[in-house]
Amino acid sequence: MQALDHQFIDNRWVASHGTRRLAVMDPYHERQIAEVTAGDARDVEAAVEAARRALPGWHALGGERRGAYLNALADALTARREALMELSATNNGKALAEAGIDLDDAIACYRYYARQAGDLEARQGRRITHDIEGVDAHCYEDPAGVIGLITPWNFPLVTSAWKIAPALAAGCTVVFKPSEVTPLPEQALAEIALEIALPPGVLNLLHGDGDGIGIPLTHHRGIDKLSFTGSNAVGERVMQAAAEGSRGVSLELGGKSPILVLEDAEVEQAADWVMAGIYFNSGQICSATSRLIVHETLAEALYEALATRIDAIRLGDPLGENTDMGPMTSQRQRDRVRDYLAVAEREGLDAVRDARHRQLPSQGYFIAPTLYRDVPTDSRLWCEEIFGPVLCARSVASDDDAIALANDNEFGLAATVISGDPQRAQRVGRALRAGNIWYNSEQIVMPEASWGGFGRSGIGRELGPWGLSAYLEVKHLIGPA
Ligand code: NAD
Repeated sequence: MQALDHQFIDNRWVASHGTRRLAVMDPYHERQIAEVTAGDARDVEAAVEAARRALPGWHALGGERRGAYLNALADALTARREALMELSATNNGKALAEAGIDLDDAIACYRYYARQAGDLEARQGRRITHDIEGVDAHCYEDPAGVIGLITPWNFPLVTSAWKIAPALAAGCTVVFKPSEVTPLPEQALAEIALEIALPPGVLNLLHGDGDGIGIPLTHHRGIDKLSFTGSNAVGERVMQAAAEGSRGVSLELGGKSPILVLEDAEVEQAADWVMAGIYFNSGQICSATSRLIVHETLAEALYEALATRIDAIRLGDPLGENTDMGPMTSQRQRDRVRDYLAVAEREGLDAVRDARHRQLPSQGYFIAPTLYRDVPTDSRLWCEEIFGPVLCARSVASDDDAIALANDNEFGLAATVISGDPQRAQRVGRALRAGNIWYNSEQIVMPEASWGGFGRSGIGRELGPWGLSAYLEVKHLIGPA
């Protein structure tokens, strides 16, 4: 069995100081496929030192050359695309086609920030226009320093690309801790760093869990900034750690996003977009549109169209050609979702579809795609992030009611609006409190547009120029002309 017991520090594989070992699972076969070190503070110490040593040289290299490394990284991922899709599907449980979408997303992200690195170089030292005579002012953007990056398990290689690519483009060096649940695909990044001869210390990868690596990394004062994606509970601890030394922090946290189906929507088309918004990746998406808000005149027809589509979802082996939905990524996540289903049972929620309507595969951490209708607004299922294939629906009488209900939530990551009139859809979209709003569309993600949310969904934005700014410090030189 593969043992991930070495850390990638300074372009070398170094035996982890950690003595605890964690099982890495294949969630479809419910079997252990590898073991990974839980890590240790001494691993963090060595990685931070390496990243600090590498920082001046990596910055001095300039944006053009850093961009060339990012393109080489994208090329290397492309060359491994099929193998990594398979590894990701096996370790995460997502259907193979979805793993392909992930790989393409990650590759596009590295290529985008390769271009951004060049653009950054071109704008260094630009003159600031102002009204004071005899004074010259120039603007520079410097790397924020050594960055600690921590990611979850739902989109291996993607979430890490959204952090590593802009951080390296900006001239930062990084210590990256992937989720201990899906370390196998992420391990490829270290292999690629060696293959493309990335300068030592620029990208350090530490395997481990929260106790072994996460906590020592977030508290380490050699880390200038932290960028974290994951749960709110851990995000708040990361933010507390960042407060020591007044260090920067970016957080991408949870969501409970709405999908609004307005009165003039075409029901069959709307049903397709509703399905894609909640059942993709077995619902383990931070931007899952898990609250369906439908105009009352369409509700019955829409629930019927959704039931037909839910019945057609093929659950099974993530590597199987005929699989639409794989298992949950871990037993822990399966159990968390089951707990919510038990709450729904106690609350007497009205299930249009749930486990009673289908036979689950005999193995794998599966949850049946579920749809509850007329869910009370004070139900825990309506308010809290479930992170599974569970859709809660309510009907409303007007666009204003739909907007008010959509905005009545602590999170604000994403939303979708569906209408026969694109102007109306955009008008409603503008009234929503969320960072990513799609109209008459599935959830299209592009590296050029921002990612991140309002309220409890986090702090800061990833992707686009905003994603790069997160890793830059602005400075001005001002003096006589
Ligand atoms: P999690 O918060 O449990 O773990 C995330 C990462 O933090 C893991 O690498 C974990 O090892 C590490 N960690 C755990 N304890 C830590 C600590 N005390 N200090 C530092 N690091 C620690 O989240 P998860 O269960 O892996 O992922 C699911 C959550 O992630 C969901 O809530 C989901 O909404 C969120 N998420 C958000 C986005 C987004 O872009 N907003 C994307 C993906 C996932």
